[in-house]
Amino acid sequence: MNYSESDTQAGEFLRLTLGFLAKHNLPATPVNYTVWYEYASGKNPKLRQAIDQILEKKLPLNKNHVETLYQKFISDGDRVVISRLLIKLNLMLREITIYVVETEGDLSTHGQTLDNLSDQIKDIHDFDGVKNIIDQMLDTTKAIIQSGSRLQTRMKVSSEDLKQLHKELDVSQKEARTDSLTGLTNRRGLEKRLEIERIRARQNNVPFSVIMLDIDHFKAVNDTFGHLVGDSLLKGFAAILSSQVRRKDLAARYGGEEFLILLPETNVEGAYTVSEKIRTILCKKEWTIKESGKRIGQIKASMGIAQYKLDETGNEVISRADEAMYHAKNTGRDRIVIHSDLEA
Ligand code: GH3
Ligand code: MG
Ligand code: MG
Repeated sequence: MNYSESDTQAGEFLRLTLGFLAKHNLPATPVNYTVWYEYASGKNPKLRQAIDQILEKKLPLNKNHVETLYQKFISDGDRVVISRLLIKLNLMLREITIYVVETEGDLSTHGQTLDNLSDQIKDIHDFDGVKNIIDQMLDTTKAIIQSGSRLQTRMKVSSEDLKQLHKELDVSQKEARTDSLTGLTNRRGLEKRLEIERIRARQNNVPFSVIMLDIDHFKAVNDTFGHLVGDSLLKGFAAILSSQVRRKDLAARYGGEEFLILLPETNVEGAYTVSEKIRTILCKKEWTIKESGKRIGQIKASMGIAQYKLDETGNEVISRADEAMYHAKNTGRDRIVIHSDLEA
């Protein structure tokens, strides 16, 4: 997505975006902001169509729905968050420039005054004249100090603002890469991390592996128990994945009920061990609805494993894990399939 709009256009989109957020009672988180900014700018027709349909049917549009739209239709959310931060940064830069130019103007006026005084000195013959020059010099130096300290105060404020913006950048980046329902890394965060692992794998000639997991018959859970129960199940499922990976691994929510685990410095056998551990936990677990104690039963998942080949892209290794996962689905579900076994 290309954000090449002018400052005026960007300002107008910003105004519309804030209006939408207020109307739908959504906080201005990076995800909400990004989705509505894209909607306002009209540059993402598919997203626009999806939202227009929701609005037409008067369906609810809460935080989770917006998150789903974000995952589905926005391929480069970072750019939007960055573009918002850049608008702020640009405003600050202009402000600082104005301060500096103003001070420069002040100083040059004072310089002129001092210059004139040195001309006047030649014609002075009495005490009053000397006193007058001293008074004027005092006034001017006081004014110079004042300009300087005004600038200093303003620069102090600007530097506080910059520190604040820096914090905002960190928070925005983290939020833009986190799935709000499960707290796992989202697809975008995963893609960034995958790039880092690809570079590491090539540099050190050590492969990594990925596991694609898709919950079996999840639609039935939603249909039987409702979407909210489905949501809390996704949270519970995510917690199991997080508990089963090492610190350096990454468990991500890839899409609706699809998850991906990235295992650095791990071959296919290692990945299989992790998958089997998760499968065993799922087999032993009986899920219930917390509030009512009502029994949901077991939740199973199909898994596909692929070990990274040093010459492939991030998408390619994910596609292979996905292919293996679909094979697990088609051959009975609640299974683990290794991609290299399909090739053989
Ligand atoms: P399969 O075993 O073939 O994977 O069957 P399935 O029912 O899991 O697969 P399908 O792709 O038909 O349905 C996925 C369901 O996941 C449909 C969708 O409503 C649900 N889902 C996706 N995201 C969310 C979410 O954030 N919350 C809830 N509650 N449900 C979700
Ligand atoms: Mg699915
Ligand atoms: Mg499924």
